[in-house]
Amino acid sequence: MKSNPDIKKVIRQHAEMAEFFSGGLTVKKLTAEHAENAEEEIKLNSANSAVSAVKITRPPCSAENIKELEDIAEQTRKCRKCELGSLRKNAVPGEGNTSARIMFVGEAPGADEDTQGRPFVGRAGQLLDKIIAACGLKRQDVYIGNILKCRPPDNRDPKPEEIIACIPYLQRQIELINPEIIVALGAHAAKTLLDTPKAIGQLRGIFHEYVPGLGHKPIKLMPTFHPAYLLRNYSDDNRRKVWEDMKKVLAELGLPIPPRANR
Ligand code: SF4
Repeated sequence: MKSNPDIKKVIRQHAEMAEFFSGGLTVKKLTAEHAENAEEEIKLNSANSAVSAVKITRPPCSAENIKELEDIAEQTRKCRKCELGSLRKNAVPGEGNTSARIMFVGEAPGADEDTQGRPFVGRAGQLLDKIIAACGLKRQDVYIGNILKCRPPDNRDPKPEEIIACIPYLQRQIELINPEIIVALGAHAAKTLLDTPKAIGQLRGIFHEYVPGLGHKPIKLMPTFHPAYLLRNYSDDNRRKVWEDMKKVLAELGLPIPPRANR
């Protein structure tokens, strides 16, 4: 039986995407000069490995903050502040390291997330895992959340009234976790957190400031493309843009850039 060319194309794109974010594609394109630089980078990374190991997270989040984060998660599971509360299977409050230096914020749960009650566990989540791994980090080193805690039907865009109802949960999670950098995944996350109508193409690639509530310092925010957008708009250029954004995040945190994927 002949296989569907579209399916073959999607499988190939996924394989290449995985290869790109795990460094394989970049290695193939290394020139002699790049190889020399990469060698230097490896030495630097070896020297820095002990330092990076302790810099991946901050000092532990206080017991009080962890308790409040758990309370927020419980509130979202009972929440009916917008219509999505009666449509969801599970709320997806967010998860990860409460002492994370990096917090990823996406738009809203999809079908897989709704089923499991966990953020970024579908196809886009698998790609996010690869991006995190390409950064030399593990999923458990970062915190991952969404603007909306419940799935919009058919993955439609969040409605303004849903964002208004739900955003206080995320705002408080950000204050309690207090990451050094927020990576806003996609237009909805970036526009909501920065309170701007600008397009993601204009926002990505440069640091902005997210302003939490009174008494909290502004937090650097890097907008980048949502992994689901990358899957839909597959191109070397888009993948490289995301990687460029993530390299800036690593540099800002003083974390080493893994040599196999650093160009
Ligand atoms: S999306 Fe947010 S505000 Fe709406 S029901 Fe779910 S938790 Fe509540």
